[in-house]
Amino acid sequence: MLGAPLVVRPDYHLHLERYALTRDAVLRFVEVALAAGVTELGFTEHAHNFVQCRTIYPPDNAWIQTHCGEDRRRWDIDEYVRLLDGLRAEGLPMKVAVEWDYCPGQERALARWIDAYPWDFTLGAVHWLPGRDGGWWGFDMPDMATEWAARSVDEVYGAYFELATTAVETRLFDVFAHPDVIKVFGHRPRGSMAGHHARFAAAMAATDTAAEISTAGLRKPVGELYPDPTFLAEIVRRGVAVTISSDAHEIAHVGFAFADAEAAARAAGCTRRTVFTRRVRSFSPFPA
Ligand SMILES: [Zn+2]
Ligand SMILES: [Zn+2]
Repeated sequence: MLGAPLVVRPDYHLHLERYALTRDAVLRFVEVALAAGVTELGFTEHAHNFVQCRTIYPPDNAWIQTHCGEDRRRWDIDEYVRLLDGLRAEGLPMKVAVEWDYCPGQERALARWIDAYPWDFTLGAVHWLPGRDGGWWGFDMPDMATEWAARSVDEVYGAYFELATTAVETRLFDVFAHPDVIKVFGHRPRGSMAGHHARFAAAMAATDTAAEISTAGLRKPVGELYPDPTFLAEIVRRGVAVTISSDAHEIAHVGFAFADAEAAARAAGCTRRTVFTRRVRSFSPFPA
């Protein structure tokens, strides 16, 4: 007789950047994860925290090329992979990935980094939109938030969804992070986003890219899950697979509000999450 299916409950979006690239820091994440009912940890450090990976950003992204160099991490990607792979070899439930920014024009550099290591999954994201006077705007960054007042919210949403759709069409990503993060500060467009949502969801389905249900939005001014229920229903209706993640930058946030995200996925008609190993996917039912 077959038993109940094995329930794996990974958190596939975790950042070490406020801590250190050390065994101790990772073990603290593991401890909190297991206590929160998370069975697997997928680390997805920002590409910009690795000195070598800044090649995936356009040279005219001032924050990345200057400011970022001063007060962000200057980690070595080899060391990152070695640390996490080493802990996995010891039997810890570890998955190794990076959160890659999609920046148009930088696809070849990005593909080189993606091919360079045996990642468990590739997590794509859009955090940068073209600036009004050249350069790039980090629309989700609190210190660049005043730019919102100078923009048309509808146009910003449109630009975001177009870029996100182009990002998944590159087929570089197994999972797309926080699919409607553009709402982070709670700016709401006047027009309907249904067409943008439909095109984006269709691109995820056509390219077999999983959509991340992220609980990070619950901790941001917008105060809701990414993606919102209507968009999530559209994603699920098109047969797109999902992951559930916290986007924890603090250890205490590992597994944050997973029961809420699982309930939202169920309400949208989805019954299972995606599990990745060396870029091969399987599925695990949501816990009862
Ligand atoms: Zn992100
Ligand atoms: Zn993140």
